[in-house]
Amino acid sequence: MTFGIDDLPVRDELRGKSPYGAPQLDVPVRLNTNENPYPLPEALVERITERVRAAARDLNRYPDRDAVELRTRLAEYLTKTTGHPLDTGDVWAANGSNEVIQQLLQTFGGPGRTAIGFEPSYSMHGLIARGTGTGWISGPRHADFTIDVPAAERALAEHRPDVVFITTPNNPTGNAVPAETVLALYEAAQAAKPSMVVVDEAYVEFSHGASLLPLLAGRPHLVISRTMSKAFGAAGLRLGYLAAHPAVVDAVQLVRLPYHLSAVTQATALAALEHTDTLLKYVEQLKTERDRLVAELRAIGYEVTESDANFVQFGRFADSHEAWRKILDRGVLVRDNGVPGWLRVTAGTPEENDAFLDAVREVKKEQN
Ligand code: PMP
Repeated sequence: MTFGIDDLPVRDELRGKSPYGAPQLDVPVRLNTNENPYPLPEALVERITERVRAAARDLNRYPDRDAVELRTRLAEYLTKTTGHPLDTGDVWAANGSNEVIQQLLQTFGGPGRTAIGFEPSYSMHGLIARGTGTGWISGPRHADFTIDVPAAERALAEHRPDVVFITTPNNPTGNAVPAETVLALYEAAQAAKPSMVVVDEAYVEFSHGASLLPLLAGRPHLVISRTMSKAFGAAGLRLGYLAAHPAVVDAVQLVRLPYHLSAVTQATALAALEHTDTLLKYVEQLKTERDRLVAELRAIGYEVTESDANFVQFGRFADSHEAWRKILDRGVLVRDNGVPGWLRVTAGTPEENDAFLDAVREVKKEQN
């Protein structure tokens, strides 16, 4: 008998659970984790090298604990792209938006408290809630994956959660949540209990519509979470950030580990922010490809959920896992998120998308 995880005194709520695990398979076309398919431009790689070289000389010292320069540049980026003026003190950064979410749950959730999300949505909200000892409530959606506002309002009144997650554009479904819905849920959440409403805008740069950042004005319980993993094409960097009332930024500092953002991370993110204009041009290409995927999938005969993200949810399949496997057999890795009947594909380069479309055309023919 080998010694295993079940032999260890792990916390009861972790027993029998699986870690987050999108397969990292070595196949020709990988369209399963909503990454940006374009490598960073060479000029930016050069700039990162320069900045990291300078940072390396000081690695005997701890990094800037408050990441002031980085937060200032992020605030400038948000101000420029949304028209909503933000300052350094309105922005906080961490290792990926997953860590931002973890810090928010450590601050506003925790044992004896609860968080709610409207599912299907980003599964890590619930997993990070569990990891921080926060109770998780699965809120409702309509069959078309839009949020059922009256049902959501009833859930907020009944459960009075401490943290409310709204993902827009939503992952894995792709649809954006209208500002009126976010406002209605914010009001309902405040009426039930003064809780924190976290709007996860990881994919907002790909949206047909605008960021909800301007809603921060006069709403100190609202948090907008963002990431450099998608639009900036820097998933490997691990840099997420939030915008909120400065009191929220003060509050998360109670739980952040000292020096959580390494000097190398800060230097790399600063270099990427110098190249925002180039990086956002790739976003325009990806939006065009995303719209093409939607149109072509529909032409082939699939159902497609409206997408404002860099991915598309398509179906329906009697057995989505079997369909996932058939697509994989043709060298294309997409994502089975466990939403019965549906799969999700990330918009890749035009060539990758063509390979995907050829694969699903064949799978469709087999089905008919
Ligand atoms: N939020 C959503 C909705 C996501 O889909 C993801 C990544 N898949 C994240 C947050 C986390 O991204 P990261 O930690 O890379 O910033």
